[in-house]
Amino acid sequence: MAEKITSYRFDQLDQTLSQMNKEDCLVMAGGTDVMVLHKSRRGVPPKIRKPIIFIDHLTELKRVYQKGGDLHIGACCTYSELVDDPLIPIPLKKAIKTIAAPAIRNRGTLGGNICNASPAGDTLPLLYVYNAKLLLRSVNGERIIPISDFIQGVRKVQRESNEILAEIILPSVLEEGAHVVFEKVGNRNADAIAKVGFAGYVRVNGAVIEDVRFAFGAVGPTMVRSLDIEKKLCGKTLPLSDSDIAQVVAAFDRIIKPIDDHRSTALYRKTVALNLLRYFLSKKQYQPN
Ligand SMILES: Cc1cc2nc3c(=O)[nH]c(=O)nc-3n(C[C@H](O)[C@H](O)[C@H](O)COP(=O)(O)OP(=O)(O)OC[C@H]3O[C@@H](n4cnc5c(N)ncnc54)[C@H](O)[C@@H]3O)c2cc1C
Repeated sequence: MAEKITSYRFDQLDQTLSQMNKEDCLVMAGGTDVMVLHKSRRGVPPKIRKPIIFIDHLTELKRVYQKGGDLHIGACCTYSELVDDPLIPIPLKKAIKTIAAPAIRNRGTLGGNICNASPAGDTLPLLYVYNAKLLLRSVNGERIIPISDFIQGVRKVQRESNEILAEIILPSVLEEGAHVVFEKVGNRNADAIAKVGFAGYVRVNGAVIEDVRFAFGAVGPTMVRSLDIEKKLCGKTLPLSDSDIAQVVAAFDRIIKPIDDHRSTALYRKTVALNLLRYFLSKKQYQPN
């Protein structure tokens, strides 16, 4: 006989947080990762040991709004909702359109992609170069943490069991004249898990680089980003010299350490990651987008 699973679906976030404070629950947003992680063999219900708490319907977690120059995105906005939202930056829409297929995009959420903390999570490289901050809420109040501190490793995040990821905050994203790119390499254009993900961000003043950021996905346990390498490029003039480009590529060559798995080889991943970086750095001009 199938085991019973306790589940909760409260109308409001406060009630949800209060329950999570009493009992360790499995948070279920779109469920597209949860159901895969807990799947049993065909015809057998998933084995879920904790009570499930549904959050995907909570309006407090589905708002997209601007505050100052920052963009706040509710953690439970689905991909389909975000693609239709005029406030969402084009590069993030581009990344979303590469995720799975429409059925999954109708269920899967941005918050779920972050909390699942897969090295191949497609939105993560972009969120890293946007310097995204995460607003976590619990009965004790709220706290804000940079995404790079929140994600600690493969499926490891710094979240207390009574906390919910409520919002993703993209600082200054709506007012900066930055050029941002996202590239994903997979077996096909959609419905494929990334072999390599890359996001690049550059903001120039005339020909001078004021700020530059890079993040690589699927080539390590978490996104690969190096503030030290980025810093060395600030103040340089465009177009970058061949030796500047070679130095940056060599520096990432030392810190990118992919693995061989069923999706790709370490050699292929590293080669593609460095090619994407080289291509981004070789551009003669960067237009804000
Ligand atoms: C067929 C298929 C194809 C896929 N293709 C892709 C792809 O191309 N690219 C890609 O990146 N991903 C892909 N995924 C993975 C998945 O769809 C995404 O990671 C999605 O964003 C997960 O969101 P969700 O709302 O479904 O998360 P859920 O499955 O509900 O949750 C995922 C994890 O995050 C936790 N969680 C979720 N929301 C919160 C919150 N607000 N606060 C605290 N904890 C939370 C859950 O407890 C769970 O541990 C695919 C999945 C499937 C099944």
